[in-house]
Amino acid sequence: MSQEKDKKKTLRMEREHQFRFNCYPGVSCFTQCCRDITIFLTPYDVLRLKNGLGISSDDFLEKHTIILPQENNMIPLVALQMNEDDKKCPFVSKNGCVVYNDRPWPCRMYPLDINDDGTFSLITDNSKCLGLMENDTWKISDWLSNQEIEPYEEMNERLSGLTIPLQARELDINNPKIQQMIFMSLYNLDKFREFVFDSTFLDRLEVEPERIKKIKENDEDLLIFAFDWIEFGLLGKKVFGVKEKQPKKEL
Ligand code: SF4
Ligand code: SF4
Repeated sequence: MSQEKDKKKTLRMEREHQFRFNCYPGVSCFTQCCRDITIFLTPYDVLRLKNGLGISSDDFLEKHTIILPQENNMIPLVALQMNEDDKKCPFVSKNGCVVYNDRPWPCRMYPLDINDDGTFSLITDNSKCLGLMENDTWKISDWLSNQEIEPYEEMNERLSGLTIPLQARELDINNPKIQQMIFMSLYNLDKFREFVFDSTFLDRLEVEPERIKKIKENDEDLLIFAFDWIEFGLLGKKVFGVKEKQPKKEL
């Protein structure tokens, strides 16, 4: 029986495969999965959550996350902090998730997870998640669009485009200032915006005026700008031109 469960858990499914699932307040395990779990947050998860909560990225990181430095990786992991006393997610209520519209990627995917080869597996079984015994069936691709996964996938792809080459090159950057800048530009967007607009940043790089307007007003545009900036600075991609120094005026 347990072997059968293991087999189900590791079954690799494609987007056209179906699975049985429904989650609603009437299911007896309702909200049980929102406690004592490790949820790693991507930069886009943080962007959505802090905007959904109407707080700054600084406040969000301070109040709701644990930052875990990683050896051999200059980008630390950021995990959602569970309540100290009952180990529940701070955003769970008896009626469900209070940040539902902006819930992080793993919460949208649950009970599925994506494998390295792009296939999907169930990450739990019907002894823990009773929703898997409901009669509703979902084609995985329909589930993903129902969960509005697309913008998360796009941003995750940009993030992997950065982290995979950074790891492959094993860049030995021990300068804590550079590490802090990278972290800020990805996870602390409000501070990154201050840095871009309150420093000489834009005096040194060629950025189209239309893009400057967008990154001033829109966090998604700012995050994409941050990905470009890190690729430019650390991976040497020619994403931006460098402004030539203005010659001193002759008197
Ligand atoms: S364990 Fe499954 S059915 Fe129960 S609340 Fe979580 S997702 Fe829903
Ligand atoms: S963010 Fe929402 S869905 Fe995710 S664990 Fe917390 S309460 Fe549950």
